[in-house]
Amino acid sequence: MNDEQLLRYSRHILLPEIGIEGQEKLLAAHALVIGAGGLGSPVALYLASAGVGRITLCDNEDVDLTNLQRQIVHRTESVGRKKVESARATLASINPEVKVAALPERVDGRRLEALAAQADVVLDGSDNFATRHAVNRACVRTRKPLVSGAAVRFDGQVAVFDPRQPGAPCYACLFPEGGESEEVRCAVMGVFAPVTGIVGTIQAAEALKVIAGTGETLAGRLLLLDALTMQLRTINLRKDPACQVCG
Ligand SMILES: [Zn+2]
Repeated sequence: MNDEQLLRYSRHILLPEIGIEGQEKLLAAHALVIGAGGLGSPVALYLASAGVGRITLCDNEDVDLTNLQRQIVHRTESVGRKKVESARATLASINPEVKVAALPERVDGRRLEALAAQADVVLDGSDNFATRHAVNRACVRTRKPLVSGAAVRFDGQVAVFDPRQPGAPCYACLFPEGGESEEVRCAVMGVFAPVTGIVGTIQAAEALKVIAGTGETLAGRLLLLDALTMQLRTINLRKDPACQVCG
């Protein structure tokens, strides 16, 4: 690290759990972020400010006026632009050192697997089950840690699925593909703005811990947030031996 980096990241370097070694891991890391919306915004902002060296951001949508209530990486003047381009501009103004690849695509299948294979950690900030399952399959196949988040109404969820750990559950162990879980989307149900911020910020924290190899992550646990009563609880997850993805 040069002198400017030592200053920029000094508050991380002061933490014995991160230090110079941990910060160097962050600088050398590559994060794949799916979605540049409510969750992807705080995820990308914190990964960039914290110095994660490379961020690949995937989202095929344009910034809409209805997004600005919570998608804090975008600005009013970005309405109508590609979300990934808008996000890249904001991230560059915060930390020009970070290399951001902005992919205006809805990634799936082989493409997603190829992108996951190049990353050290994958963060899912998508808003639908089809994409969440596709991201999970790609992470299981490429054995990459997945930091999953969801937010709707006043409710949030975060979990880490780390296929590198023996006996680890995957997202599909929790929500089987084609299962009964109903699709609840912010566009229909509404979402309390800070819930996306809380969930996305926790996702960023978990990804930084995964990269730096520090602390205890949410691997094998699901964190549930009820922002209406402001209660958090965690439940332990188990691998489903009959899981169609990881079983
Ligand atoms: Zn599974």
